[in-house]
Amino acid sequence: MDIKTVGVLGAGTMGNGIAHVFAKLGYKVVLRDVEQRFLDRAMDTISKNLEREVSKNKITAEQRMQALAQIAPGVDRGALAACDFVVEAATEKFEIKAELFRELDRICRPEIILSSNTSSISITKLAALTKRPDKVIGMHFFNPVPMMKLVEVIRGLATSQETFDVVVELAKKLEKTPIEVNDFPGFVGNRVLIPMLNEAMYAVMEGVATPEAVDEVFQLGMAHPMGPLTLADFIGLDVCLEIMRVLHAGLGDSKYRPCPLLIKMVDAGWLGRKSGRGFYQYDGK
Ligand code: NAD
Repeated sequence: MDIKTVGVLGAGTMGNGIAHVFAKLGYKVVLRDVEQRFLDRAMDTISKNLEREVSKNKITAEQRMQALAQIAPGVDRGALAACDFVVEAATEKFEIKAELFRELDRICRPEIILSSNTSSISITKLAALTKRPDKVIGMHFFNPVPMMKLVEVIRGLATSQETFDVVVELAKKLEKTPIEVNDFPGFVGNRVLIPMLNEAMYAVMEGVATPEAVDEVFQLGMAHPMGPLTLADFIGLDVCLEIMRVLHAGLGDSKYRPCPLLIKMVDAGWLGRKSGRGFYQYDGK
């Protein structure tokens, strides 16, 4: 299948990065979100991130303009009918993704592969909501998408070999390294990473150490480029909480219970970097 036009649903942290990498490599991108302001913010972020690549001589100013022109942002879903491939990168909630997959199945041509960038939700379950379960797959990029090389390619129970092969080739064309993973809560990356971040939050909640001290332990002692609380703020605390909930429900082990401090912060709207406040403040106060 010749993929020329790619639909990206959700223009948040991940959606804008995914649109960025496809557009830079010459794919047309139909970028969709629920409100225009999220699309404006995404286009602004993509524009600035491409500008940074120009200043580092990774691309030319002309390539930046060409990439921006490849992206068509909007709120109407009908335009997805023209897409040859779709990546869903909307909010990490099963009900939202379920509704989107049902709708994508109605709008997109029957031969089109529908992929999800979900961090933890079952690909098998999303696939079962469609009439093309063999063409549903996980394409899990990492944050920030333009920089991180890894893509977990997640096989649902019904995903066909053909679908898997197409997505592996596509990931390589995007200059990423695809790694094959089976569908299980959290896959590999988040099953191991997010419980570690959750445990770091327990350390803060129990007064073992401050967020700064916990982060320094990991930076200086384990050579992590970012401490776990800085990383949680970067990922988004709401995203971390949803992943813990999926791990807890899906694996049924109390070791995956979300930290009460994480729940409280999300309830307060402290979602990390994207909301201006998480374990740290980002709004200049
Ligand atoms: P985000 O909150 O930054 O963005 C989600 C976007 O989806 C929002 O702009 C929201 O308005 C939009 N949205 C909600 N409902 C929608 C709908 N029905 N149609 C279209 N858009 C809709 O979240 P994010 O961090 O970009 O996460 C998106 C997905 O990527 C999630 O599944 C998440 O688990 C996954 N993911 C996140 C990270 C990370 O580090 N943040 C890494 C890998 C994967």
